[in-house]
Amino acid sequence: MLKDIAFKSLYLHLPFCLKRCNYCDFLSHTYAEVKAQAAAYPAALRQEMRMYRAYAGELRSVYFGGGTPTVLPAAELCGLLDFIGRTFTLADDAEITVECNPATVDAKYLAELRAAGFNRLSIGAQSFQDAELKMLGRLHDAAAVRDCVAAARQAGFDNISLDIIYALPGQTLADLQYNLLAALKLSPEHISLYSLQLDNDSIWGREYAAGKLLPADKDLEADMLQMARGMLREQGFVQYEIANFARRGERDFRSRHNRLYWQREDYLGVGLGAASCLFMTRWQNVGTLDAYIEALAKLHRPPVEEEQLTMAQAMSEVMFMGLRQTAGVDIYPVIDRYRVDPLRFYDYELQGLFARSLVEYVEDAHSLRLTERGMMLANQVFLEFIKDETEDMQLLSRQDEPFLEI
Ligand code: SF4
Repeated sequence: MLKDIAFKSLYLHLPFCLKRCNYCDFLSHTYAEVKAQAAAYPAALRQEMRMYRAYAGELRSVYFGGGTPTVLPAAELCGLLDFIGRTFTLADDAEITVECNPATVDAKYLAELRAAGFNRLSIGAQSFQDAELKMLGRLHDAAAVRDCVAAARQAGFDNISLDIIYALPGQTLADLQYNLLAALKLSPEHISLYSLQLDNDSIWGREYAAGKLLPADKDLEADMLQMARGMLREQGFVQYEIANFARRGERDFRSRHNRLYWQREDYLGVGLGAASCLFMTRWQNVGTLDAYIEALAKLHRPPVEEEQLTMAQAMSEVMFMGLRQTAGVDIYPVIDRYRVDPLRFYDYELQGLFARSLVEYVEDAHSLRLTERGMMLANQVFLEFIKDETEDMQLLSRQDEPFLEI
């Protein structure tokens, strides 16, 4: 095992929801249909975490995502966090996030989570208009989002993120403006703003593929993002990533979990379909609930799809994940970790991107960043960083030791 490989970020996937939302393609099951498996699931998670203890560094972030983690009893989530505290070393200021759906929590539930040590709540608000929430297939209304935030404040959560979705079929700029103003009234510390994606695994994705659903116009979508960025900046938020905004102030409210991921730090994901990446090894757990639980009950590693990345693959990840952040890619830590200088490795591509004013190099911060224009065309920029595998031959690789033996 390479000495400097140790995950600092832990993700737990809780793949249960009360009901499937129309736009969602996440790996999740309807809770009522898999109650027996859901009851066995926390034990499987514990067993999987035990298996990777040797690869853990001091955890700076723990993230309970889903699905809807809060569909499980609060005691289950608190028990898992207690186990994590006993199994790994948590940094004193570790960010411990739990995603929650307003339809699943009340004041007592949130107070239990806060008392157990969860210190960041990510609330799936999505919209503040009941008609939109209904169209999305959400089980809560706008009033429930407001109640959820009030209950979270009462429970002592001082770091709350709201997810807002935009570019919905038929949605106007005024609709999004209304949603953002309503969100801002709740004074969240963080807002994640996602445009609707129509993937084939979602109900809407299938309707779109069948020609039954009309997505938002791309120009309107770009205008929405532009408007949202302006509004949030005016209201004291800093955009630190394409879709993420943190309230400016003495405390840093940027999501540590996401930043570790975008900086391509090592992370461990446990649970159904969870992905992990330790330096040049990446894997994804099996997506079948019974197979996952059965393997761990027998003390086996769950089936995974594992991949040894080439240096070219790793470098393209460094670039397109790093460039998502407004701070961009700090090239010195990259050179230190991979022994590859992105400025030289991507010399040809960067010259083209500089010429088109899509990327800039900031000398003082020794950082490569997307320009404002590049931010709007990010997906096109990212494609430039996918290189031919044979170019790996030119690099000094550190893929010299096998390391994953559990
Ligand atoms: S959007 Fe969230 S609550 Fe809705 S089905 Fe997907 S994971 Fe579950």
